[in-house]
Amino acid sequence: SKLRVGLLFGGRSGEHEVSINSARAIATALSAGENASKYEILPFYIQKNGRWLAGEAPQTVLKSGVPLLESSSPSATDNNIVSNPQQQTLERWQSPSQVAEVDVWFPILHGPNGEDGTIQGLLTLMQIPFVGSSVLGSALGMDKIAMKMAFAQAGIPQVKYKAVTRAQIWSNPCIFPKLCDEIEADLGYPCFVKPANLGSSVGISKVRSRQELENALDNAAQYDRRIIVEAGVVAREVECAVLGNDQPQASVVGEITFDSDFYDYETKYTQGKADLLIPAAIPNDISSKIQDMALQAFAAVDAAGLARVDFFYLEATGEVLINEINTLPGFTATSMYPQLWAHSGIPFPELVDKLVQLAIERHNPSH
Ligand code: ATP
Ligand code: MG
Ligand code: MG
Ligand code: MG
Repeated sequence: SKLRVGLLFGGRSGEHEVSINSARAIATALSAGENASKYEILPFYIQKNGRWLAGEAPQTVLKSGVPLLESSSPSATDNNIVSNPQQQTLERWQSPSQVAEVDVWFPILHGPNGEDGTIQGLLTLMQIPFVGSSVLGSALGMDKIAMKMAFAQAGIPQVKYKAVTRAQIWSNPCIFPKLCDEIEADLGYPCFVKPANLGSSVGISKVRSRQELENALDNAAQYDRRIIVEAGVVAREVECAVLGNDQPQASVVGEITFDSDFYDYETKYTQGKADLLIPAAIPNDISSKIQDMALQAFAAVDAAGLARVDFFYLEATGEVLINEINTLPGFTATSMYPQLWAHSGIPFPELVDKLVQLAIERHNPSH
């Protein structure tokens, strides 16, 4: 009989729309060619307010590609809708019919409440295999401060940075100027201010002056309790995909080019604003170094299944610095992660098949 794949998408995150697009591509690939005889898809759509929908609704979202906004009068009697998160979590554990049918979960949620270990904790408690990193890998991969600590421990070169808390920015007017002084002295301009736990460049600012720094810190603090400020580098942006569990493989290296000031949200998601070049036009020894660093980064945060590792390549010196790891990278047909594998000999349908098999393998270790 077919393996039932619980495709979990949408999510309570600024990357909700990206997740819908990723899920559409994965659903198509799981229901085509050889995959069609192996897998049956059970889609679950998490609305922006956190409500889980099963049955018809997720099919509609997958078909249309458009988010389903929360209805103003949720009916608690509808089998597919549960009204409050606490009750909902309990009911999931009591296995309402659709959840109980899932053989393997494929969470394709980007950003907070999905890529950060929260959903992975829930799926772990369900004792059902799931695609991708577990709680630790997801959480370390999402929090840029914890991630950088893990990379530093593993000896992977990265930019200078400073960790800041929302409390330092908001609650204590006496220490804020001192904090800005320190950032100016240690990192200089331009620097990048980022909420620690986000993606798609949401909440990130490139700053060039004291005024911009103060505004950017205040803005980032709206998104997260934890904020990171990084020294800005002038570099080419290259990415490497990793696939596997205990013996992961690195893909060819790809480059992203664009005309904007940095790779911000608009540049990422406006058609034609950025180009992917695969393989990147860089020397062989540099791409080998990047592949090694990608595998080191994967191990450093305890990632599993898949991850996309992003780097800065400083052409003048030949230096490569790690920027970050993404444990549930964008997964549309044109996204960097599947494109990197397509160029490395693994077409999209085979890639999703491998990911499901890796989830099962990790759940049932054999020796
Ligand atoms: P993703 O969508 O890949 O998860 P993200 O939201 O986690 O992205 P980053 O990758 O940290 O954000 O940064 C977004 C972009 O900002 C980078 O791709 C790069 O263009 C620019 N950037 C970030 N940090 C730096 C830096 N220290 N120096 C130069 N550019 C930077
Ligand atoms: Mg990221
Ligand atoms: Mg991301
Ligand atoms: Mg990035």
